[in-house]
Amino acid sequence: MVERDYDVAIIGGGHNGLVAAAYLAKAGKKVIVLEKLEGLGGAAVSERTFPGVDANLSRYSYLVSLLPKQIIDDLGLDLTLAPRRYGSYTPEPGTNRGLLIDKHDESVTKDSFQSIGAAEDFDSWNEFYARTEELAKKLFPTVLEPLKRQTEVRELIGEELWNEFFVNPIGKSVAKNFKSDLVRGVVLTDALIGTFAANEDANLDANKCFLYHVIGNETGEWQIPVGGMGSISSAMAASAADFGAELKTNSEVIAITEDRTVTFVEVGDEKSISADFVLVNVAEPVLNKLLGRHTRHNIQGAQVKVNMLLKRLPKLKSRVEPEKAFGGTFHINENFSQLQKAFDDASSGKIPDPLPLEIYCHSITDPSILGDKLQKSGAQTLTAFVLHTPHALLENSDHDLMRKLFQDAVIESINSVLDEDISSLLIQDIDGNPCIETKTTQDLENSLGLPGGNIFHAPLSWPFAKDQEDLGSAEKRWGVSTGYPHIYYCGSTSVRGGAVSGIGGHNAAMAVLEETNNNLSSK
Ligand SMILES: Cc1cc2nc3c(=O)[nH]c(=O)nc-3n(C[C@H](O)[C@H](O)[C@H](O)COP(=O)(O)OP(=O)(O)OC[C@H]3O[C@@H](n4cnc5c(N)ncnc54)[C@H](O)[C@@H]3O)c2cc1C
Repeated sequence: MVERDYDVAIIGGGHNGLVAAAYLAKAGKKVIVLEKLEGLGGAAVSERTFPGVDANLSRYSYLVSLLPKQIIDDLGLDLTLAPRRYGSYTPEPGTNRGLLIDKHDESVTKDSFQSIGAAEDFDSWNEFYARTEELAKKLFPTVLEPLKRQTEVRELIGEELWNEFFVNPIGKSVAKNFKSDLVRGVVLTDALIGTFAANEDANLDANKCFLYHVIGNETGEWQIPVGGMGSISSAMAASAADFGAELKTNSEVIAITEDRTVTFVEVGDEKSISADFVLVNVAEPVLNKLLGRHTRHNIQGAQVKVNMLLKRLPKLKSRVEPEKAFGGTFHINENFSQLQKAFDDASSGKIPDPLPLEIYCHSITDPSILGDKLQKSGAQTLTAFVLHTPHALLENSDHDLMRKLFQDAVIESINSVLDEDISSLLIQDIDGNPCIETKTTQDLENSLGLPGGNIFHAPLSWPFAKDQEDLGSAEKRWGVSTGYPHIYYCGSTSVRGGAVSGIGGHNAAMAVLEETNNNLSSK
Protein backbone atom coordinates (compact mmCIF):
# COMPACT_ATOMS: atom_id res chain seq x y z
CA MET A 1 0.00 0.00 0.00
CA VAL A 2 1.18 3.52 -0.82
CA GLU A 3 1.97 5.53 2.30
CA ARG A 4 -0.11 8.70 2.18
CA ASP A 5 0.83 12.08 3.66
CA TYR A 6 -2.52 12.44 5.44
CA ASP A 7 -5.45 10.29 6.39
CA VAL A 8 -7.81 13.07 5.29
CA ALA A 9 -7.32 16.27 3.27
CA ILE A 10 -10.18 18.77 3.43
CA ILE A 11 -10.60 21.23 0.57
CA GLY A 12 -12.02 24.46 1.94
CA GLY A 13 -12.10 25.73 5.50
CA GLY A 14 -15.75 26.71 5.68
CA HIS A 15 -17.48 25.90 8.97
CA ASN A 16 -18.39 22.43 7.65
CA GLY A 17 -14.79 21.64 6.70
CA LEU A 18 -13.79 22.65 10.22
CA VAL A 19 -16.44 20.43 11.81
CA ALA A 20 -15.29 17.46 9.70
CA ALA A 21 -11.68 18.19 10.65
CA ALA A 22 -12.53 18.36 14.35
CA TYR A 23 -14.42 15.05 14.38
CA LEU A 24 -11.73 13.25 12.39
CA ALA A 25 -8.82 14.66 14.37
CA LYS A 26 -10.67 13.76 17.57
CA ALA A 27 -10.89 10.19 16.25
CA GLY A 28 -7.10 10.17 15.82
CA LYS A 29 -6.88 10.85 12.08
CA LYS A 30 -4.10 12.92 10.55
CA VAL A 31 -6.03 15.79 8.98
CA ILE A 32 -5.17 18.87 6.93
CA VAL A 33 -7.57 21.67 5.95
CA LEU A 34 -6.68 23.82 2.93
CA GLU A 35 -8.46 27.17 2.70
CA LYS A 36 -7.83 29.58 -0.14
CA LEU A 37 -8.79 32.73 1.75
CA GLU A 38 -6.86 34.52 4.48
CA GLY A 39 -9.40 33.51 7.12
CA LEU A 40 -11.40 30.39 7.96
CA GLY A 41 -15.19 30.08 8.02
CA GLY A 42 -16.31 30.63 4.39
CA ALA A 43 -19.80 32.12 4.46
CA ALA A 44 -19.86 31.95 8.28
CA VAL A 45 -17.51 34.80 9.15
CA SER A 46 -17.44 38.17 10.86
CA GLU A 47 -15.46 41.02 9.36
CA ARG A 48 -14.65 44.66 10.00
CA THR A 49 -16.21 45.59 6.69
CA PHE A 50 -16.07 49.36 6.90
CA PRO A 51 -12.59 50.95 7.02
CA GLY A 52 -11.77 52.52 10.37
CA VAL A 53 -15.09 51.51 11.93
CA ASP A 54 -15.10 49.21 14.97
CA ALA A 55 -18.01 47.02 13.86
CA ASN A 56 -17.41 43.30 13.37
CA LEU A 57 -20.34 42.31 11.14
CA SER A 58 -21.59 38.84 10.26
CA ARG A 59 -20.74 39.45 6.64
CA TYR A 60 -22.80 36.76 4.93
CA SER A 61 -24.81 34.36 7.14
CA TYR A 62 -26.16 35.85 10.37
CA LEU A 63 -28.66 33.57 12.18
CA VAL A 64 -28.28 30.01 13.47
CA SER A 65 -30.97 27.38 13.87
CA LEU A 66 -29.73 24.14 12.33
CA LEU A 67 -26.47 23.60 14.25
CA PRO A 68 -27.32 20.53 16.35
CA LYS A 69 -26.60 20.68 20.07
CA GLN A 70 -24.91 17.31 19.69
CA ILE A 71 -22.18 18.83 17.49
CA ILE A 72 -21.65 21.65 20.00
CA ASP A 73 -21.29 19.10 22.81
CA ASP A 74 -19.22 16.51 20.90
CA LEU A 75 -16.68 19.11 19.84
CA GLY A 76 -16.81 21.18 23.04
CA LEU A 77 -17.59 24.30 21.03
CA ASP A 78 -17.28 27.48 23.04
CA LEU A 79 -20.14 29.52 21.62
CA THR A 80 -23.31 31.28 22.70
CA LEU A 81 -26.55 31.57 20.78
CA ALA A 82 -29.00 34.22 21.93
CA PRO A 83 -32.74 34.13 21.27
CA ARG A 84 -34.41 37.19 19.78
CA ARG A 85 -37.13 38.90 21.78
CA TYR A 86 -39.60 39.21 18.88
CA GLY A 87 -40.49 36.78 16.11
CA SER A 88 -41.16 39.29 13.37
CA TYR A 89 -42.69 42.59 12.41
CA THR A 90 -44.37 43.22 9.06
CA PRO A 91 -45.75 46.60 8.05
CA GLU A 92 -48.85 46.37 5.88
CA PRO A 93 -47.91 47.99 2.57
CA GLY A 94 -49.65 51.31 1.96
CA THR A 95 -51.02 51.62 5.51
CA ASN A 96 -49.65 52.58 8.91
CA ARG A 97 -50.45 49.20 10.41
CA GLY A 98 -48.32 46.14 10.91
CA LEU A 99 -48.17 42.63 12.35
CA LEU A 100 -45.96 42.11 15.41
CA ILE A 101 -45.20 38.57 16.57
CA ASP A 102 -44.27 38.83 20.23
CA LYS A 103 -42.61 35.62 21.45
CA HIS A 104 -43.08 36.53 25.11
CA ASP A 105 -46.63 37.87 25.12
CA GLU A 106 -49.26 36.04 23.11
CA SER A 107 -51.92 38.67 23.83
CA VAL A 108 -49.82 41.30 22.03
CA THR A 109 -49.60 39.00 19.02
CA LYS A 110 -53.32 38.31 19.13
CA ASP A 111 -54.16 42.02 19.25
CA SER A 112 -51.76 42.66 16.41
CA PHE A 113 -53.48 40.08 14.16
CA GLN A 114 -56.75 41.85 14.97
CA SER A 115 -55.29 45.30 14.23
CA ILE A 116 -54.46 44.31 10.65
CA GLY A 117 -57.87 42.73 10.11
CA ALA A 118 -56.53 39.17 10.32
CA ALA A 119 -58.07 38.05 13.63
CA GLU A 120 -59.15 34.74 12.10
CA ASP A 121 -55.57 33.88 11.18
CA PHE A 122 -54.32 34.02 14.77
CA ASP A 123 -55.51 30.53 15.70
CA SER A 124 -54.43 29.16 12.31
CA TRP A 125 -50.96 30.60 12.99
CA ASN A 126 -50.66 28.79 16.31
CA GLU A 127 -51.98 25.56 14.86
CA PHE A 128 -49.75 25.75 11.78
CA TYR A 129 -46.58 26.30 13.81
CA ALA A 130 -47.59 23.59 16.28
CA ARG A 131 -47.57 21.26 13.26
CA THR A 132 -44.16 22.46 12.03
CA GLU A 133 -42.84 21.91 15.57
CA GLU A 134 -44.23 18.40 15.61
CA LEU A 135 -42.49 17.82 12.28
CA ALA A 136 -39.26 19.29 13.67
CA LYS A 137 -39.34 17.02 16.73
CA LYS A 138 -39.70 13.95 14.54
CA LEU A 139 -37.33 14.89 11.73
CA PHE A 140 -34.45 16.85 13.25
CA PRO A 141 -33.08 13.95 15.33
CA THR A 142 -32.45 12.08 12.04
CA VAL A 143 -30.08 14.62 10.49
CA LEU A 144 -26.98 13.22 12.21
CA GLU A 145 -27.89 9.62 11.33
CA PRO A 146 -27.40 7.68 8.10
CA LEU A 147 -30.14 8.62 5.62
CA LYS A 148 -33.55 7.12 6.11
CA ARG A 149 -35.56 6.19 3.06
CA GLN A 150 -38.59 8.20 1.91
CA THR A 151 -41.09 5.60 3.13
CA GLU A 152 -39.48 5.48 6.56
CA VAL A 153 -39.68 9.26 6.91
CA ARG A 154 -43.27 9.26 5.71
CA GLU A 155 -44.13 6.69 8.37
CA LEU A 156 -42.13 8.59 10.98
CA ILE A 157 -43.98 11.87 10.50
CA GLY A 158 -47.43 10.57 9.54
CA GLU A 159 -49.68 11.12 6.50
CA GLU A 160 -51.08 14.49 7.49
CA LEU A 161 -47.72 16.23 7.91
CA TRP A 162 -46.32 14.38 4.91
CA ASN A 163 -49.05 15.67 2.61
CA GLU A 164 -48.95 19.19 3.97
CA PHE A 165 -45.19 19.72 3.78
CA PHE A 166 -43.78 17.14 1.33
CA VAL A 167 -46.49 16.65 -1.28
CA ASN A 168 -48.49 19.85 -1.72
CA PRO A 169 -46.62 22.96 -2.89
CA ILE A 170 -45.96 24.90 0.31
CA GLY A 171 -47.61 28.03 -1.12
CA LYS A 172 -50.83 26.04 -1.52
CA SER A 173 -50.67 24.82 2.08
CA VAL A 174 -50.04 28.39 3.23
CA ALA A 175 -52.92 29.79 1.17
CA LYS A 176 -55.20 27.07 2.53
CA ASN A 177 -54.33 27.81 6.15
CA PHE A 178 -54.34 31.63 6.14
CA LYS A 179 -56.67 34.27 4.73
CA SER A 180 -54.62 37.47 5.01
CA ASP A 181 -52.27 38.32 2.13
CA LEU A 182 -49.80 39.71 4.67
CA VAL A 183 -49.88 36.70 7.01
CA ARG A 184 -49.52 34.32 4.07
CA GLY A 185 -46.48 36.27 2.91
CA VAL A 186 -44.80 36.21 6.33
CA VAL A 187 -45.14 32.43 6.47
CA LEU A 188 -44.04 31.86 2.87
CA THR A 189 -40.80 33.86 3.09
CA ASP A 190 -39.09 30.94 4.85
CA ALA A 191 -39.65 28.96 1.66
CA LEU A 192 -37.97 31.53 -0.55
CA ILE A 193 -34.67 32.33 1.17
CA GLY A 194 -32.06 32.10 -1.59
CA THR A 195 -34.58 30.03 -3.54
CA PHE A 196 -36.07 31.40 -6.74
CA ALA A 197 -39.51 29.81 -6.89
CA ALA A 198 -43.11 30.75 -7.56
CA ASN A 199 -45.48 30.83 -4.59
CA GLU A 200 -47.04 27.54 -5.63
CA ASP A 201 -43.83 25.96 -6.82
CA ALA A 202 -44.67 22.58 -8.34
CA ASN A 203 -41.00 21.48 -8.21
CA LEU A 204 -41.21 21.66 -4.40
CA ASP A 205 -37.86 23.52 -4.11
CA ALA A 206 -39.75 26.03 -1.95
CA ASN A 207 -40.97 23.15 0.27
CA LYS A 208 -37.40 21.99 0.83
CA CYS A 209 -36.28 25.51 1.72
CA PHE A 210 -39.25 25.89 4.08
CA LEU A 211 -38.51 22.57 5.75
CA TYR A 212 -34.94 23.50 6.71
CA HIS A 213 -36.24 26.81 8.06
CA VAL A 214 -38.64 25.21 10.53
CA ILE A 215 -36.94 22.05 11.85
CA GLY A 216 -33.72 23.37 13.43
CA ASN A 217 -32.99 21.84 16.85
CA GLU A 218 -36.58 20.56 17.00
CA THR A 219 -38.07 24.06 17.34
CA GLY A 220 -37.14 25.94 14.17
CA GLU A 221 -36.03 28.92 16.25
CA TRP A 222 -33.36 31.14 14.67
CA GLN A 223 -30.85 32.62 17.09
CA ILE A 224 -28.17 35.27 17.10
CA PRO A 225 -24.58 34.00 17.37
CA VAL A 226 -23.10 36.11 20.16
CA GLY A 227 -19.96 37.84 18.90
CA GLY A 228 -21.15 37.42 15.31
CA MET A 229 -21.10 34.47 12.94
CA GLY A 230 -17.30 34.45 13.00
CA SER A 231 -17.43 33.30 16.61
CA ILE A 232 -19.09 30.05 15.45
CA SER A 233 -16.38 29.28 12.89
CA SER A 234 -13.65 30.35 15.34
CA ALA A 235 -14.99 27.92 17.93
CA MET A 236 -14.98 25.14 15.32
CA ALA A 237 -11.45 26.03 14.17
CA ALA A 238 -10.24 26.07 17.78
CA SER A 239 -11.76 22.66 18.38
CA ALA A 240 -10.22 21.20 15.19
CA ALA A 241 -6.80 22.64 16.07
CA ASP A 242 -7.04 21.39 19.68
CA PHE A 243 -7.71 17.88 18.46
CA GLY A 244 -4.62 18.16 16.24
CA ALA A 245 -5.88 19.07 12.76
CA GLU A 246 -3.55 21.17 10.63
CA LEU A 247 -5.37 24.28 9.37
CA LYS A 248 -3.79 26.12 6.46
CA THR A 249 -5.12 29.43 5.12
CA ASN A 250 -3.95 31.26 1.97
CA SER A 251 -3.75 27.80 0.42
CA GLU A 252 -5.83 27.51 -2.74
CA VAL A 253 -6.33 24.02 -4.07
CA ILE A 254 -5.82 24.05 -7.84
CA ALA A 255 -6.17 20.35 -8.69
CA ILE A 256 -7.28 17.00 -7.28
CA THR A 257 -6.66 13.65 -8.91
CA GLU A 258 -9.01 10.72 -8.61
CA ASP A 259 -6.29 8.89 -6.66
CA ARG A 260 -6.41 11.75 -4.15
CA THR A 261 -3.33 13.80 -4.79
CA VAL A 262 -4.14 17.39 -3.93
CA THR A 263 -2.19 20.28 -5.43
CA PHE A 264 -2.41 23.68 -3.82
CA VAL A 265 -0.69 27.03 -3.91
CA GLU A 266 0.46 28.35 -0.56
CA VAL A 267 1.58 31.96 -0.76
CA GLY A 268 2.93 31.55 -4.29
CA ASP A 269 4.44 28.06 -3.75
CA GLU A 270 2.86 25.08 -5.51
CA LYS A 271 2.75 21.96 -3.32
CA SER A 272 1.22 18.48 -3.53
CA ILE A 273 0.03 16.12 -0.85
CA SER A 274 -1.69 12.74 -0.93
CA ALA A 275 -4.46 11.50 1.34
CA ASP A 276 -6.51 8.36 1.95
CA PHE A 277 -9.66 10.47 1.82
CA VAL A 278 -10.39 13.87 0.35
CA LEU A 279 -13.35 15.80 1.74
CA VAL A 280 -14.59 18.63 -0.43
CA ASN A 281 -16.16 21.62 1.28
CA VAL A 282 -16.80 23.21 -2.12
CA ALA A 283 -19.69 22.99 -4.57
CA GLU A 284 -19.96 20.40 -7.33
CA PRO A 285 -18.88 22.72 -10.20
CA VAL A 286 -15.78 23.69 -8.20
CA LEU A 287 -14.96 20.02 -7.56
CA ASN A 288 -15.39 19.22 -11.26
CA LYS A 289 -13.02 22.01 -12.19
CA LEU A 290 -10.43 20.77 -9.69
CA LEU A 291 -10.73 17.28 -11.21
CA GLY A 292 -10.15 18.81 -14.66
CA ARG A 293 -13.74 18.17 -15.77
CA HIS A 294 -15.22 21.42 -16.91
CA THR A 295 -18.94 20.91 -17.04
CA ARG A 296 -21.71 23.46 -17.48
CA HIS A 297 -24.13 23.96 -14.64
CA ASN A 298 -27.28 25.95 -14.07
CA ILE A 299 -27.01 26.42 -10.32
CA GLN A 300 -27.87 29.94 -9.26
CA GLY A 301 -28.69 31.94 -6.19
CA ALA A 302 -31.50 34.46 -5.97
CA GLN A 303 -30.59 36.97 -3.30
CA VAL A 304 -28.79 40.21 -2.61
CA LYS A 305 -27.39 40.97 0.81
CA VAL A 306 -26.89 44.49 2.15
CA ASN A 307 -24.98 45.26 5.35
CA MET A 308 -25.43 48.65 6.99
CA LEU A 309 -24.26 50.49 10.08
CA LEU A 310 -26.65 53.17 11.31
CA LYS A 311 -26.38 56.01 13.84
CA ARG A 312 -29.59 54.69 15.38
CA LEU A 313 -32.62 52.62 14.44
CA PRO A 314 -34.92 54.33 11.95
CA LYS A 315 -38.41 55.59 12.80
CA LEU A 316 -41.31 53.80 11.20
CA LYS A 317 -44.41 55.14 9.48
CA SER A 318 -46.49 52.78 11.59
CA ARG A 319 -45.08 54.36 14.78
CA VAL A 320 -44.27 50.99 16.31
CA GLU A 321 -41.17 51.29 18.51
CA PRO A 322 -38.09 50.51 16.36
CA GLU A 323 -36.75 48.16 19.10
CA LYS A 324 -39.81 45.98 18.54
CA ALA A 325 -39.86 46.18 14.74
CA PHE A 326 -36.16 45.38 14.46
CA GLY A 327 -36.11 42.99 17.44
CA GLY A 328 -36.98 40.03 15.19
CA THR A 329 -37.22 39.52 11.43
CA PHE A 330 -38.54 42.68 9.81
CA HIS A 331 -40.41 41.80 6.59
CA ILE A 332 -40.77 44.51 3.96
CA ASN A 333 -42.96 44.21 0.88
CA GLU A 334 -43.29 40.46 1.41
CA ASN A 335 -47.06 40.01 1.17
CA PHE A 336 -48.02 36.79 -0.61
CA SER A 337 -49.19 38.68 -3.72
CA GLN A 338 -46.06 40.84 -3.69
CA LEU A 339 -43.86 37.74 -3.56
CA GLN A 340 -45.57 36.29 -6.62
CA LYS A 341 -45.32 39.60 -8.47
CA ALA A 342 -41.62 39.85 -7.58
CA PHE A 343 -41.09 36.32 -8.93
CA ASP A 344 -42.90 37.27 -12.15
CA ASP A 345 -40.94 40.53 -12.49
CA ALA A 346 -37.60 38.77 -12.04
CA SER A 347 -38.64 35.93 -14.39
CA SER A 348 -39.21 38.50 -17.09
CA GLY A 349 -35.75 39.99 -16.53
CA LYS A 350 -36.70 42.98 -14.36
CA ILE A 351 -35.57 43.95 -10.87
CA PRO A 352 -38.74 43.42 -8.81
CA ASP A 353 -40.54 46.60 -7.84
CA PRO A 354 -40.90 46.80 -4.90
CA LEU A 355 -38.11 44.49 -3.80
CA PRO A 356 -39.24 41.98 -1.16
CA LEU A 357 -36.71 41.82 1.66
CA GLU A 358 -36.16 41.04 5.33
CA ILE A 359 -34.09 42.98 7.76
CA TYR A 360 -32.20 41.66 10.78
CA CYS A 361 -30.62 43.75 13.49
CA HIS A 362 -27.84 41.82 15.22
CA SER A 363 -26.81 44.55 17.66
CA ILE A 364 -30.16 44.84 19.49
CA THR A 365 -29.72 41.28 20.80
CA ASP A 366 -25.91 41.28 20.89
CA PRO A 367 -24.18 44.69 20.96
CA SER A 368 -20.79 43.03 21.52
CA ILE A 369 -20.00 43.17 17.79
CA LEU A 370 -19.70 46.97 18.14
CA GLY A 371 -16.85 48.77 19.87
CA ASP A 372 -17.62 50.63 23.12
CA LYS A 373 -17.88 54.05 21.47
CA LEU A 374 -20.32 52.86 18.84
CA GLN A 375 -22.39 51.03 21.44
CA LYS A 376 -22.61 54.14 23.61
CA SER A 377 -23.54 56.29 20.61
CA GLY A 378 -26.64 54.14 19.97
CA ALA A 379 -25.33 52.77 16.65
CA GLN A 380 -27.00 49.63 15.25
CA THR A 381 -26.18 47.14 12.50
CA LEU A 382 -28.80 46.17 9.94
CA THR A 383 -28.65 43.39 7.38
CA ALA A 384 -31.11 43.21 4.50
CA PHE A 385 -31.62 39.84 2.80
CA VAL A 386 -33.41 40.39 -0.49
CA LEU A 387 -35.56 37.75 -2.17
CA HIS A 388 -36.17 37.09 -5.87
CA THR A 389 -33.05 38.66 -7.31
CA PRO A 390 -31.78 35.67 -9.32
CA HIS A 391 -28.28 35.50 -10.73
CA ALA A 392 -29.79 35.53 -14.23
CA LEU A 393 -30.58 39.24 -13.76
CA LEU A 394 -26.84 39.93 -13.80
CA GLU A 395 -26.20 38.14 -17.08
CA ASN A 396 -24.92 40.33 -19.91
CA SER A 397 -25.02 43.42 -17.75
CA ASP A 398 -22.55 45.75 -16.12
CA HIS A 399 -22.11 44.16 -12.70
CA ASP A 400 -21.12 47.36 -10.85
CA LEU A 401 -24.12 49.14 -12.31
CA MET A 402 -26.44 46.26 -11.35
CA ARG A 403 -25.07 46.26 -7.81
CA LYS A 404 -25.86 49.97 -7.57
CA LEU A 405 -29.35 49.46 -9.02
CA PHE A 406 -30.01 46.68 -6.49
CA GLN A 407 -28.77 48.86 -3.64
CA ASP A 408 -30.94 51.77 -4.73
CA ALA A 409 -33.96 49.46 -5.00
CA VAL A 410 -33.25 48.06 -1.51
CA ILE A 411 -33.12 51.59 -0.04
CA GLU A 412 -36.36 52.47 -1.82
CA SER A 413 -38.10 49.36 -0.55
CA ILE A 414 -36.94 49.98 3.02
CA ASN A 415 -37.88 53.66 2.85
CA SER A 416 -41.41 52.71 1.80
CA VAL A 417 -42.10 51.75 5.44
CA LEU A 418 -39.95 54.35 7.20
CA ASP A 419 -40.70 57.84 8.38
CA GLU A 420 -37.24 59.01 7.31
CA ASP A 421 -34.63 58.21 4.67
CA ILE A 422 -32.46 55.35 5.90
CA SER A 423 -29.52 56.74 3.87
CA SER A 424 -29.43 59.77 6.19
CA LEU A 425 -28.74 57.45 9.15
CA LEU A 426 -25.72 55.65 7.67
CA ILE A 427 -22.51 56.18 9.64
CA GLN A 428 -19.49 57.25 7.55
CA ASP A 429 -16.26 55.27 7.43
CA ILE A 430 -12.79 56.76 7.84
CA ASP A 431 -12.79 57.80 4.16
CA GLY A 432 -16.13 59.57 4.43
CA ASN A 433 -18.05 56.81 2.61
CA PRO A 434 -21.41 55.64 3.96
CA CYS A 435 -21.26 52.31 5.83
CA ILE A 436 -23.29 50.23 3.40
CA GLU A 437 -22.09 47.13 1.56
CA THR A 438 -24.05 45.25 -1.10
CA LYS A 439 -23.20 41.67 -2.09
CA THR A 440 -24.69 40.25 -5.27
CA THR A 441 -24.73 36.61 -6.32
CA GLN A 442 -21.73 37.44 -8.54
CA ASP A 443 -19.82 38.84 -5.55
CA LEU A 444 -20.45 35.56 -3.69
CA GLU A 445 -19.24 33.51 -6.62
CA ASN A 446 -16.11 35.66 -6.90
CA SER A 447 -15.20 35.66 -3.21
CA LEU A 448 -16.39 32.27 -1.91
CA GLY A 449 -16.78 30.21 -5.08
CA LEU A 450 -20.55 29.76 -4.62
CA PRO A 451 -21.84 28.72 -8.07
CA GLY A 452 -24.12 31.46 -9.43
CA GLY A 453 -24.02 32.84 -5.88
CA ASN A 454 -26.16 29.99 -4.53
CA ILE A 455 -25.95 30.37 -0.74
CA PHE A 456 -26.41 26.62 -0.23
CA HIS A 457 -23.87 25.59 -2.97
CA ALA A 458 -26.70 23.75 -4.76
CA PRO A 459 -30.50 23.49 -4.66
CA LEU A 460 -31.55 21.99 -1.32
CA SER A 461 -32.42 18.29 -1.17
CA TRP A 462 -34.97 16.35 0.87
CA PRO A 463 -33.46 15.01 4.09
CA PHE A 464 -33.92 11.37 3.04
CA ALA A 465 -33.01 8.92 0.28
CA LYS A 466 -35.40 7.70 -2.39
CA ASP A 467 -36.89 4.27 -1.74
CA GLN A 468 -34.92 2.54 -4.51
CA GLU A 469 -31.71 4.49 -4.00
CA ASP A 470 -28.48 2.50 -3.63
CA LEU A 471 -27.33 2.95 -0.03
CA GLY A 472 -24.70 0.25 -0.26
CA SER A 473 -21.69 2.32 0.79
CA ALA A 474 -20.83 4.51 3.77
CA GLU A 475 -20.73 7.69 1.67
CA LYS A 476 -24.15 6.99 0.17
CA ARG A 477 -25.68 6.14 3.54
CA TRP A 478 -24.40 9.43 4.95
CA GLY A 479 -25.43 11.46 1.88
CA VAL A 480 -21.92 12.69 1.06
CA SER A 481 -21.11 10.80 -2.14
CA THR A 482 -19.39 12.62 -5.03
CA GLY A 483 -19.30 9.51 -7.20
CA TYR A 484 -15.48 9.32 -6.83
CA PRO A 485 -14.05 6.70 -4.46
CA HIS A 486 -12.87 8.15 -1.15
CA ILE A 487 -13.71 11.71 -2.25
CA TYR A 488 -16.73 12.92 -0.28
CA TYR A 489 -18.66 16.16 0.04
CA CYS A 490 -18.41 17.63 3.51
CA GLY A 491 -20.23 20.93 3.02
CA SER A 492 -23.47 22.47 1.91
CA THR A 493 -23.70 20.23 -1.16
CA SER A 494 -24.11 17.08 0.91
CA VAL A 495 -27.65 15.88 1.55
CA ARG A 496 -28.98 17.90 4.54
CA GLY A 497 -25.90 20.16 4.31
CA GLY A 498 -27.31 23.65 3.51
CA ALA A 499 -27.02 26.43 6.11
CA VAL A 500 -24.77 26.98 9.11
CA SER A 501 -25.25 23.58 10.69
CA GLY A 502 -22.06 21.55 10.59
CA ILE A 503 -24.29 18.64 9.52
CA GLY A 504 -22.42 18.12 6.23
CA GLY A 505 -19.09 18.11 8.05
CA HIS A 506 -20.30 15.68 10.72
CA ASN A 507 -21.80 13.29 8.20
CA ALA A 508 -18.71 13.23 5.97
CA ALA A 509 -16.55 12.51 9.01
CA MET A 510 -18.87 9.65 10.00
CA ALA A 511 -18.65 8.19 6.47
CA VAL A 512 -14.84 8.25 6.65
CA LEU A 513 -14.83 6.64 10.09
CA GLU A 514 -17.35 4.00 9.06
CA GLU A 515 -15.35 3.19 5.93
CA THR A 516 -12.00 2.99 7.75
CA ASN A 517 -13.45 0.90 10.58
CA ASN A 518 -15.00 -1.48 8.04
CA ASN A 519 -11.65 -1.80 6.28
CA LEU A 520 -9.90 -2.49 9.57
CA SER A 521 -12.43 -5.07 10.67
CA SER A 522 -12.33 -6.85 7.29
CA LYS A 523 -8.51 -7.25 7.51
C1 LIG B 1 -25.30 35.94 2.10
C2 LIG B 1 -25.56 34.65 2.81
C3 LIG B 1 -26.44 34.62 3.88
C4 LIG B 1 -26.70 33.42 4.54
N1 LIG B 1 -27.47 33.43 5.66
C5 LIG B 1 -27.55 32.31 6.42
C6 LIG B 1 -28.07 32.36 7.73
O1 LIG B 1 -28.42 33.42 8.25
N2 LIG B 1 -28.15 31.20 8.43
C7 LIG B 1 -27.73 30.01 7.90
O2 LIG B 1 -27.86 28.98 8.57
N3 LIG B 1 -27.20 29.95 6.67
C8 LIG B 1 -27.06 31.07 5.94
N4 LIG B 1 -26.43 31.03 4.73
C9 LIG B 1 -25.96 29.73 4.21
C10 LIG B 1 -24.71 29.27 4.95
O3 LIG B 1 -23.88 30.37 5.24
C11 LIG B 1 -23.93 28.27 4.11
O4 LIG B 1 -24.80 27.23 3.70
C12 LIG B 1 -22.78 27.68 4.91
O5 LIG B 1 -22.02 28.69 5.53
C13 LIG B 1 -21.93 26.84 4.02
O6 LIG B 1 -20.88 26.36 4.77
P1 LIG B 1 -19.82 25.38 4.14
O7 LIG B 1 -18.75 25.20 5.15
O8 LIG B 1 -20.48 24.17 3.63
O9 LIG B 1 -19.25 26.14 2.85
P2 LIG B 1 -18.64 27.58 2.64
O10 LIG B 1 -18.95 28.48 3.76
O11 LIG B 1 -19.03 28.01 1.27
O12 LIG B 1 -17.08 27.32 2.68
C14 LIG B 1 -16.38 26.81 1.59
C15 LIG B 1 -14.94 27.24 1.74
O13 LIG B 1 -14.17 26.69 0.69
C16 LIG B 1 -13.20 27.65 0.30
N5 LIG B 1 -12.74 27.31 -1.04
C17 LIG B 1 -13.42 27.41 -2.21
N6 LIG B 1 -12.63 26.99 -3.24
C18 LIG B 1 -11.45 26.62 -2.68
C19 LIG B 1 -10.24 26.11 -3.22
N7 LIG B 1 -10.09 25.90 -4.53
N8 LIG B 1 -9.21 25.84 -2.38
C20 LIG B 1 -9.37 26.04 -1.04
N9 LIG B 1 -10.47 26.54 -0.48
C21 LIG B 1 -11.50 26.82 -1.30
C22 LIG B 1 -13.97 28.94 0.36
O14 LIG B 1 -13.10 30.06 0.40
C23 LIG B 1 -14.76 28.75 1.65
O15 LIG B 1 -14.05 29.20 2.77
C24 LIG B 1 -26.11 32.22 4.08
C25 LIG B 1 -25.21 32.25 3.03
C26 LIG B 1 -24.92 33.45 2.41
C27 LIG B 1 -23.91 33.46 1.29
